[in-house]
Amino acid sequence: MSDPGHALLTITHRPNTVFIEGQGAWLTDEDGKRHLDLVQGWAVNSLGHSPALITQALLDQSQRLLNPSPAYYNRPLLDLAGRLVELSCFDRVFLASSGAEANEAAVKLARRWGSRRRGGAHEVIGFEQAFHGRTLAMMSASGKPGWGEIYPPMPTGFTKARLNDIASVERAMTRRTAAVMIEFVQGEAGVVVADPGFVRELRALTAERGVLLIADEVQTGIGRCGHAFAYEHFGVEPDVMTLAKGLGGGVPLAALLCKEDFNCFEPGDQGGTFCGNPLMAAVGLAVVNEVCRSDFLAGVRARAAQLSEGLQAIVQDHGLVGERGVGLLRALVLASDQAAEVVAAAQALAPVGLLLNAPRPHLLRLMPALNITAAEMEEGLALLRRALREVLG
Ligand SMILES: *Cc1c(COP(=O)(O)O)cnc(C)c1O
Repeated sequence: MSDPGHALLTITHRPNTVFIEGQGAWLTDEDGKRHLDLVQGWAVNSLGHSPALITQALLDQSQRLLNPSPAYYNRPLLDLAGRLVELSCFDRVFLASSGAEANEAAVKLARRWGSRRRGGAHEVIGFEQAFHGRTLAMMSASGKPGWGEIYPPMPTGFTKARLNDIASVERAMTRRTAAVMIEFVQGEAGVVVADPGFVRELRALTAERGVLLIADEVQTGIGRCGHAFAYEHFGVEPDVMTLAKGLGGGVPLAALLCKEDFNCFEPGDQGGTFCGNPLMAAVGLAVVNEVCRSDFLAGVRARAAQLSEGLQAIVQDHGLVGERGVGLLRALVLASDQAAEVVAAAQALAPVGLLLNAPRPHLLRLMPALNITAAEMEEGLALLRRALREVLG
């Protein structure tokens, strides 16, 4: 078969399938084959594919106002910021277009605050295996093995500690430390969940030392973990938080949120042509209003319990290592490095395929739409069993 991607810059390996349509939990390819999608754009499509709510928001807003420039206020920008402030422990919001951009803005905010209020403190402590995005600075902030060697020289000012090891954070702290940046659930690392006791100790330590706690909730925020924000699950309030992925429900939208004390950019310090554009903000507002309702979040927790139980049964039957996660961000840990084979076998199932993600060689990550039905979840678990049987016997 000829490579459908021959005109694209080479960046990754992709299957030859070309997807042309998505509805809810399902994606259809060019050959008309349907796939139950447990990837959902990497935890992006909180409401599944092509939800009517997003279509309507795009249609209405695109007929009204696309982009008056970030030099002016627009109504969806103000309304989305107001809603996020209402729902969270934060007071101020900056909108951006990607998680990396929001995280980069969080580091800029920490450095600005450090230069003004902490005598030039500027270093950010991150965690081994963490993932914060693909700009040069966010590659430095991330803890992915090998990421320091691809594009040298790398931006400096980032050090690393170990998740769930408070002594390692204390050792990394110096007079120059401005912030600690954490994913409460490390998604790309393989759904590695921070210990709630560690998170509380980290909150206490950063408060005591006058260091900002930045929560990267790009993957965990907006209902993914069964609460509007994952920090609620862990029982702490960060000083700064970033959102992206699920916030736009499929469109490019991200946010940086902070408490009033850290509202310390000077006019002109931060911005971006598409930051706060009304088209994406209108979608974000529709998504947030739907996902952050208490009955919707209760539904997420119910589906999460169903998924977790289904995975535990699979672990028993196939002699796997285990399952873990928070809410609808979960991982199935295999006993061997065969995750890529399972992904391929699942997609190849007939008559319908199953789409899975393998962020690590021994591990599958499941991140279905937050409004997946109980019946679709059962079907997904049944398809997963079939794919595992094909690969593991
Ligand atoms: C995906 C992700 C990012 C990067 O977001 P982009 O929109 O791809 O730039 C940052 N942090 C976490 C935790 C993520 O999962």
